[in-house]
Amino acid sequence: MSLEIRDITKSFGGFRALDGVRLTIETDALFGIIGPNGAGKSTLFSVISGFVPADSGEIRLNGDPIDGLSPPQRARAGMVRTFQVPREFSHLTVRENLMASAPDQTGESLLGLFFRPGQVRKEEAKIAETVERTIAFLKLGKVADVPSGKLSGGQKKLLELGRALMVEPKLILLDEPFAGVNPVLIGEIMERIEELNARGIGFVIIEHDLEALTRLVPRLAVMDRGKVLAEGAPAAVLEDPVVREAYLGG
Ligand code: ADP
Ligand code: MG
Repeated sequence: MSLEIRDITKSFGGFRALDGVRLTIETDALFGIIGPNGAGKSTLFSVISGFVPADSGEIRLNGDPIDGLSPPQRARAGMVRTFQVPREFSHLTVRENLMASAPDQTGESLLGLFFRPGQVRKEEAKIAETVERTIAFLKLGKVADVPSGKLSGGQKKLLELGRALMVEPKLILLDEPFAGVNPVLIGEIMERIEELNARGIGFVIIEHDLEALTRLVPRLAVMDRGKVLAEGAPAAVLEDPVVREAYLGG
């Protein structure tokens, strides 16, 4: 099972944010992406998750091209992303945010609602159960009824992970999950990621905090100016002269 990124390019105006990105990532892996600001990392996530169309290239999930699928369709295919800046509904509580992140099922069609009220109630019960399980897993019980706008930066990142978990994904793309998070909560988030990975959920993690990332992932890619400069085990990649030159300033 794999996510294949084949020669993806994307320009904004005249600016090439992605310039022929190729990567193959096992969908049950812990895979890191690092690179300086503006390297194109978040744009790559936007293309992979379907929020931004590529100009050229192809994305395959488990062998199937997914370029024509919308973000919700890609989520149903098992792949979700989080955003660098958490996108919780700040006026909703943690619990309500998780509820709102459950994928539409029967309730989608009015006709379905009319003819199958029992089915809808069953779906609702299942969603409520998944919400409570997610709250317990992420240890958000104490803030479950707090409007999420009032959470700390780290708690918002946990909620963002929780929102991704609501679609019961196989692969989660995390955009800077440790940015602005205190060290204790970083450890907490890392443990949750490792537990989920042990259950077979894969992660691709963009991160600025190199030290945190290299503790977590056995493989990573380095991006700079829209390209993948190097890929491999963290120690080997960070010793690569091309990487040192571009990312660490020589
Ligand atoms: P990173 O996540 O590696 O810091 P981004 O993918 O956010 O980098 O951005 C890569 C480059 O593309 C940056 O120069 C950024 O300004 C530009 N960019 C990203 N999204 C847009 C957009 N929607 N419109 C115009 N330029 C964009
Ligand atoms: Mg970014």
